[in-house]
Amino acid sequence: MDKTLHIVGGGMAGSEAAWQAARLGVDVVIHEMRPKVETFAHRTGNLAEMVCSNSFRSDDHEQNAVGLLHWEMRQAGSLIMTTAGEHRLPAGGALAVDRDPFSEAVTAKLLALPNVSVSEEEVTELPSDGHWIFATGPLTSGALGKALQQQTGAEALAFFDAIAPIVYFDTIDMDTAWLQSRYDKGETEEEQKAYINCPMTKEQYEGFVDALLAAEKTEFHEGETAGYFDGCLPIEVMAERGRETLRHGPMKPIGLTNPHNPEQKAYAVVQLRRDNALGTLYNIVGFQTKMKYGAQTEVFRRIPGLENASFARLGGIHRNTFLNSPTLLDAQMRLRARPNLRFAGQITGVEGYVESASMGLLAGRMAAAEILGHELPAVPQDSAHGALIHHITGGAEAKTFQPMNVNFGLFRPLEGLRGGRRGRKDRYKGYTDRAKSVWQEWLAAQEVPA
Ligand SMILES: Cc1cc2nc3c(=O)[nH]c(=O)nc-3n(C[C@H](O)[C@H](O)[C@H](O)COP(=O)(O)OP(=O)(O)OC[C@H]3O[C@@H](n4cnc5c(N)ncnc54)[C@H](O)[C@@H]3O)c2cc1C
Repeated sequence: MDKTLHIVGGGMAGSEAAWQAARLGVDVVIHEMRPKVETFAHRTGNLAEMVCSNSFRSDDHEQNAVGLLHWEMRQAGSLIMTTAGEHRLPAGGALAVDRDPFSEAVTAKLLALPNVSVSEEEVTELPSDGHWIFATGPLTSGALGKALQQQTGAEALAFFDAIAPIVYFDTIDMDTAWLQSRYDKGETEEEQKAYINCPMTKEQYEGFVDALLAAEKTEFHEGETAGYFDGCLPIEVMAERGRETLRHGPMKPIGLTNPHNPEQKAYAVVQLRRDNALGTLYNIVGFQTKMKYGAQTEVFRRIPGLENASFARLGGIHRNTFLNSPTLLDAQMRLRARPNLRFAGQITGVEGYVESASMGLLAGRMAAAEILGHELPAVPQDSAHGALIHHITGGAEAKTFQPMNVNFGLFRPLEGLRGGRRGRKDRYKGYTDRAKSVWQEWLAAQEVPA
């Protein structure tokens, strides 16, 4: 087989993947459709263009999961992180960058490598041979989207995300909420107690509906059509359709008995469902929303049992092409049905510049190892990269899979550390210390030039 690595899409993930593989000695061709074919969000023909905010978020590598991802990427010689550091703007604890010089520098550094070239073209089909990484992002072109859908089936490739907020389990007040599936359905006790239920009185429900109607909402970007269908309407749109709509929809109280107060029937119930195999994250069922982030926190903390909730991610609805990775991809991010095709970046179901670039970093190294005939040790699950790739390729619930930011809820719990908000500082430091140590061991075990 030809030993060239072809990377489709020169965004955050594709650029990082190209850098990692090329530095290992592999010949790389980046196939990028811009500027010939445009998207509604990109403005230039540069590689690694930041399409919206100019921030890579928190740079705190001791107390923040995305900051930890920055740290791990720097240790691995990341092009995106090093260049971001060179074009840093003052932004307190966040890593903000001067966007145009940043993407111009990424482009120049890649083109300066003798074994990297860029082919300005749109790829519209899935090649049957050769080594390929597809990193075409949330705005994957229509023709390629079609080809992908033919390969994966309509169920396994989404063109919009509809994200319900995700809550850390240990911040839910279980003296108010309780575990029960509607009508106790299920064969095993685990299934009969698969949901967390938060009860509301009539007054609480009315107040909640008022808050939803009053909350500030995000508009769709220009060129991004609303396109939501009845199965995933934002909750505030449901509330606009009638004050009782939610009570007959995702908040219906039937088939549930509150063991803390069995005599009183709840007027409405908010349900949360497990979101990962570890049981550390729960999503609020049916609560996809276009409310602004600040408004979401305020409105959702009105739900009894969630007064002190911490959110691993807030809800949203965006134009976003992504695979159902837990069912389609193997642990090396290859399409199980066509292992010569690897995926990276937001199309694999991670979310954000940093997460996308980090998956590019892994994909670049994995593809290079395969081409060069090296054995790449498994990515350690306790690193930030490992927690994220493990989530998208297996740890997440496939049925409800939606894009995910890196967060500490994806990490395996550490024994002996206090749960809840009080123990948070020590717990996060414990996670980041453990991650740094296993990540360094992983890097040291690879044959990478200095
Ligand atoms: C409107 C919008 C706003 C966003 N705002 C933010 C934000 O503020 N912060 C944040 O962290 N994340 C944001 N995101 C998410 C962001 O896009 C990703 O985090 C990140 O850019 C994804 O990196 P990627 O490499 O996977 O995709 P991209 O960076 O989008 O790169 C994909 C590349 O593939 C190219 N391409 C697509 N199809 C083809 C094809 N068929 N052939 C050849 N090339 C192709 C595209 O031109 C593009 O250059 C936003 C996304 C959108 C759509």
